[in-house]
Amino acid sequence: MSLKHEFKNGWNVIREMNNMDNVMGYSKEYLDFLNKGKTERLCAREVIKLAKEQGFISFEEASKNNIKCGDKIFAENRDKGVALFVIGEKDIEQGMKIIASHIDSPRLDLKQNPLYEDSNMAYFKTHYYGGIRKYQWVTIPLALYGVVFLHDGTKVDISIGDEENDPVFCINDLLPHLSADQNQKKLAEGIAGEDLNVLIGSIPCEDEEEQSVKYNLLKLLNEKYNLTEEDFLSAELEIVPAGKARDLGLDKSMVMAYGQDDRVCAFAAVKAIFEIEKPEYTVVTLCVDKEETGSYGNTGMHSRFFENTVAELINLQVDYSDLKIKRALANSKVLSGDVNVAYDPNFASVYEKNNSAYAGKGVVLMKYSGSRGKSSTSDANAEFVSEVRRIFNQENVVWQTGELGKVDQGGGGTVAYILANYGAEVIDCGVGVLSMHAPYEVVSKADIFEMYRGYKAFFNINL
Ligand code: MN
Ligand code: MN
Repeated sequence: MSLKHEFKNGWNVIREMNNMDNVMGYSKEYLDFLNKGKTERLCAREVIKLAKEQGFISFEEASKNNIKCGDKIFAENRDKGVALFVIGEKDIEQGMKIIASHIDSPRLDLKQNPLYEDSNMAYFKTHYYGGIRKYQWVTIPLALYGVVFLHDGTKVDISIGDEENDPVFCINDLLPHLSADQNQKKLAEGIAGEDLNVLIGSIPCEDEEEQSVKYNLLKLLNEKYNLTEEDFLSAELEIVPAGKARDLGLDKSMVMAYGQDDRVCAFAAVKAIFEIEKPEYTVVTLCVDKEETGSYGNTGMHSRFFENTVAELINLQVDYSDLKIKRALANSKVLSGDVNVAYDPNFASVYEKNNSAYAGKGVVLMKYSGSRGKSSTSDANAEFVSEVRRIFNQENVVWQTGELGKVDQGGGGTVAYILANYGAEVIDCGVGVLSMHAPYEVVSKADIFEMYRGYKAFFNINL
């Protein structure tokens, strides 16, 4: 054992272990996953599609009293969340090994009454979802995704902006020639929330009675989707950056894409569970919604969905008892798979160098999050940090620790504390991200691959 400790550079270990091709192959699949799931609904559907290909069956298909070790079952939560289970040898009472991540990302949601016209141009009003820096969302191509329920209840899926011949949308900004006043404002105030109006059209209608651009667009929407203006009231439509996930750098060592917080962890957890056959403890990959707005609602981590699903699972195996589910959850071990901030030398002043995560130095274990004196953190127990550390070291997984910025700079949290409330051991474990919550976020391919290896090791190894 060395007396001194220094975290390794992931790329060196990847070379030593001859994993370079595996890293690039994994990343290619990851880019594809991102492109297919730009919203929580699309991502949940993609996870279920992939799971079915791997032999996972729904709870409805899993027959009573016929669950055995190695069985693969999935549960869906209202088109916006998924839980994947591989049944273990041990009774579920003895706990599960869970990796929980979220599949919602910051974006602009259309308001209830979104469509309006001003100065011969038509717009959508939006209300941003999650923490965004508003100035980053202007003058970039945007896409529209979501669902609309028509007057008769028919569900219509909408996706416009990512196919080659699709139009895109945008939010305009001032030209430098006229921005003298705007330039004097604070960065946070340069673009206000009510300024995030999305430009969607400009041709007036040819009807004698209704010559507006708004009416022309309603006609277009009606021809294509059978949609009327009232149908916006029962819709969930999201504006996200248009364009595909890309390799970044001459060496293609990084990924630049929308929505990597937190689909990067969700993908690793999904890939990892696909490689588990007959685990000792039941393993679970949990993909949840609404993390970016506080995990509320029946698709967020605060909902009873997971607890209820575990109850159903117990009911399939043995006769249900309240004590069994309490034990199953309290004895569980959890990696809260969420991203951390990667040290950015361009903004060195907000980090503390010795305790920041670095892009390329592997998967990040974050013992505590929170802000202003660790407020709101669940703070992982040293016993559990030790366990995960030894699991990672045993598999030569490249890992590091991280903290969300320097003390009193800001802070944040994940779903970790919610599962910790059940008594489970929980630690945050994800990758460092550059430009987190920006329309295009950046991660290191070394880190995402080591995260996937780390997640697999966590499922497989029991100390
Ligand atoms: Mn996150
Ligand atoms: Mn986030």
